[in-house]
Amino acid sequence: MATKSLKKLGNDLAQSNKQIEILSNGIFKSGELPTFKDKISETSQFPIKAKKLEILQINVGYMCNQVCDHCHVDAGPDRKEIMTRDTMRQCLEVIKNSGAHTLDLTGGAPEMNPDFRWFVEEAAKVGITDFIVRSNLTIIRANKKYYDLPDFFKKHNVHVVSSMPHWTKGKTDKQRGDGVFDKSIKALQELNAVGYGMPGSDLKLDLVYNPSGAFLPGDQVAMEKDFKKALMDDFGIEFHNLFAITNLPIARFLDYLIASENYEDYMYSLVEAYNPAAVENVMCTNTLSISWDGYLFDCDFNQMLELPVNSKSRHISEFNEELLEGRNIVISQHCYGCTAGAGSSCQGVVA
Ligand code: SF4
Ligand code: SF4
Repeated sequence: MATKSLKKLGNDLAQSNKQIEILSNGIFKSGELPTFKDKISETSQFPIKAKKLEILQINVGYMCNQVCDHCHVDAGPDRKEIMTRDTMRQCLEVIKNSGAHTLDLTGGAPEMNPDFRWFVEEAAKVGITDFIVRSNLTIIRANKKYYDLPDFFKKHNVHVVSSMPHWTKGKTDKQRGDGVFDKSIKALQELNAVGYGMPGSDLKLDLVYNPSGAFLPGDQVAMEKDFKKALMDDFGIEFHNLFAITNLPIARFLDYLIASENYEDYMYSLVEAYNPAAVENVMCTNTLSISWDGYLFDCDFNQMLELPVNSKSRHISEFNEELLEGRNIVISQHCYGCTAGAGSSCQGVVA
């Protein structure tokens, strides 16, 4: 289990251009597999165009208390990229004035940003319909200063979306680190105790599953049933929905694929499972991702690959919803991760 980010380790794959090079060459350059652009062109779906903005996803920093094997952010305790209050203020202006109905805070562990609580308090006042915080759960148990997070989330009517790769300790700890399972269970019980995830409760608690190896997720509905039964039977835990997410071949998951000699097989599985129906609703069509330093991206994955939006409006300080709508989405082979099977997004399947 890694304890440092690729960046801290000085690994080549910490550089976005190295990742793009890998995704553009080899089996895709030789024509063994079609590029994503060629594949979507077969059904006249190129270019993918941004529709009306619905979701603003803000990455408030890459610092995290965990160093999960599959992390597309390459997050960890050693990452120092953190959104400042000034950039948060600019984000708040955009949240107030944009037509987006959903605000989605992510990281790293967003709670580790020293201005996280201030930002949540301010953003909650704007009256956005769905205010999501992506929590890795263990942060709630990481340190006393975070113990009250369930109450804090409740106070601001935050929708908690939490990673939970499996209902067993072995599989969870293998992917996310020793002790993660026990802390996650405790955090879920604490969220339940204040009302999160209970049947009929407005305090929404959803879980995110992603595979622990070089394979695609199974059926989301069936998995949700299995998760619900196991977590209830074993720990008395309730939650609302399970989102099944495909691992995209970037950052630490790409590193894992290459190190385990699974990269080509995995890309084959993604291309074979390509579903043109999923292209219509890939999340970049209604979402905009904002980085810790205020730059705009089509999604969190493009943010990590440092592929900026194809628009004159490139930074939160020059946000222009009209200019951004209808922009051509920037794609590469990692996008196959969003269109395999039933598709994949931060809200689970899309097709
Ligand atoms: S996957 Fe989430 S919890 Fe794990 S290191 Fe990345 S940001 Fe942190
Ligand atoms: S990776 Fe990003 S840009 Fe590519 S299809 Fe998925 S959401 Fe869109």
